[in-house]
Amino acid sequence: MKVTEYFEKANGQTLISFEVLPPMKGGSMQAIFDTLDPLMEFKPPFIDVTYHREEFVYKKRPSGYYEKTSIRKRPGTVGICAAIMHRYGVDAVPHLICGGFTTEDTENALIDLNFLNIKNVLAIRGDARKFEGQFVPEDGGHHYALDLIRQIADMNKGKYLDDNIENGEKTDFCIGIAGYPEKHYESPNLDLDLHYTKAKVDAGANYIVTQMFFDNKYYFDFVKRCREAGIEIPIVPGLKPLTKLHQITSIPRLFHVDLPTELVSELLKASSPEARTQVGIEWCIAQSRELKASGAPCMHYYTMGDTDTIRKIVKAVY
Ligand code: FAD
Repeated sequence: MKVTEYFEKANGQTLISFEVLPPMKGGSMQAIFDTLDPLMEFKPPFIDVTYHREEFVYKKRPSGYYEKTSIRKRPGTVGICAAIMHRYGVDAVPHLICGGFTTEDTENALIDLNFLNIKNVLAIRGDARKFEGQFVPEDGGHHYALDLIRQIADMNKGKYLDDNIENGEKTDFCIGIAGYPEKHYESPNLDLDLHYTKAKVDAGANYIVTQMFFDNKYYFDFVKRCREAGIEIPIVPGLKPLTKLHQITSIPRLFHVDLPTELVSELLKASSPEARTQVGIEWCIAQSRELKASGAPCMHYYTMGDTDTIRKIVKAVY
């Protein structure tokens, strides 16, 4: 079923969804099951699986020179989606990125997804590769998520890249996109960011999942400004509990979000790792409760392998 159909069927109830990362290459599918098994009692109608572009690594050779090679550290998104659907009977939402894909690669990936009866995709651009500073598309690939969405929308109309294909099968993908309550880090301001978000909606996006945020004010303002900009689709808050000291600096650096003063000072005051985890759990519970009470369509938890923490939060909220 499509994600948006779940929202419609929920009749105002706030659903739950989880996001998982593929294991590092060489890891096993069991890692995903170990993350998800304890969370399935909360009946998430859909589960997202992230996609990771290849990265450049530099390997020192016996000559002393460094060789630049490219590897994909976390392959397997589509296989994981199929395994999740098979094991749990829920929908899986693969993330599909522009980076590393030509438009033909994208078309072929969408054909695979369609054949697997995967009805949803989260269409995003992907970040810059390490050491590149800015996003560089594949030759013959998309520069922006907007172009990717247009390609998916074309396939939903039966339009493939090859003009010779007549009466091509119309896919029926429900398209999710990313949204940034604190604006995307490359955007000069939220207005321009929302301008492009609106363009993605006009191109066929059906719902938004937000970047993580730690102050609900950002989400409420974002929803208000989206509505004022004519963006009417459901906006799902993305939540991540902050439970470790190093995250005080790594989360802002990696995700370009602010951390509230009160949260940071509570984390700094905590006298042990366990006490710190408890601070993060309680903060996320409070955020979740307020978002749920405000009628958010779904709570989207970034699990990042931390099942125990997510479980405690969801148990307290639902
Ligand atoms: P875009 O919509 O293309 O926007 C990128 C920037 O360009 C923005 O500043 C925007 O304002 C601007 N812009 C947009 N369209 C245009 C245009 N036509 N002309 C000029 N400027 C434009 N990354 C991964 O690699 N894998 C994942 O699985 C993944 N999952 C994610 C899930 C969620 C819920 C979120 C919020 C992010 C996720 N990301 C993931 C990160 C995402 O790829 C990055 O944030 C990326 O930098 C931007 O992606 P986007 O789809 O928002 O890009």
